[in-house]
Amino acid sequence: MAKQPIITVNNLVKNYGDFNAVKDISFEVYEGEIFGLLGPNGAGKTTTLEIIETLRDKTSGQIIVDGFDVDKDPDSIKKRIGVQLQAAGYYPNLNLSELIELFSGLYGINKTPMEMLAKVALTDKAKAKYKELSGGQKQRFSIATTLINDPRIIFLDEPTTGLDPQARRNLWDLIREIRDNGTTVVITTHYMDEAEILCDRVAFVDGGRIIDIDTPDNFIDKLVASGFERKKEVKLANLEDVFINLTGKEWREG
Ligand code: ATP
Repeated sequence: MAKQPIITVNNLVKNYGDFNAVKDISFEVYEGEIFGLLGPNGAGKTTTLEIIETLRDKTSGQIIVDGFDVDKDPDSIKKRIGVQLQAAGYYPNLNLSELIELFSGLYGINKTPMEMLAKVALTDKAKAKYKELSGGQKQRFSIATTLINDPRIIFLDEPTTGLDPQARRNLWDLIREIRDNGTTVVITTHYMDEAEILCDRVAFVDGGRIIDIDTPDNFIDKLVASGFERKKEVKLANLEDVFINLTGKEWREG
């Protein structure tokens, strides 16, 4: 089946004053994939994502999200996407159940908190406040909030930063499950092992430009075919495998 683009970015430019942060980039995200934007700090990933999410103005270029143009119909785009809020967005005195009710109300959607919390294995924390959660639980909760409006696409900006290896792997399973249920996922990460395991395709961004886009497998095969060889022989396991082997894979925090 031909891949259908769900996001099309054409010739996107973003200037902050005299500074050219995004330099004429074009790419597509296909429906039903996990698409990774990779690149060093300051490459322009967050800027690009926030423009697609209709949260930041662009300087020029055209962006179509699920058939809608960011310039003409940002409200239709907002209804079709889920964006992770930063921690500051969660009212400190409400518990998780109340926060889900609040967000459902804002979307005008009737979702039961338990239904949403069950998706991210947090039903036992329904009465806890956001600040009382562990790092992994906070990330899972914020992913649950992106799903309230049954979005076509969710955007996750460095969702596993600061998490332990089990919590990261649990989150990867969750993100794959979301993709397998039909939601397209756009993710940024600084962890190349994560991108390699999780992403169907990745784009490398550097200095405001897209250097290349492909599947992780193709990127690695192309590099190897060009004659690249690792200096040291790779062992069949690494220290992270030891960690998981010794401490298990189950949800652990709290
Ligand atoms: P990171 O990996 O660190 O999150 P990033 O790839 O997401 O980086 P951006 O946050 O998009 O990068 O920033 C791209 C460039 O634009 C950086 O040089 C940054 O300093 C600059 N920039 C971002 N936001 C603004 C702003 N509001 N005003 C001026 N410059 C900005």
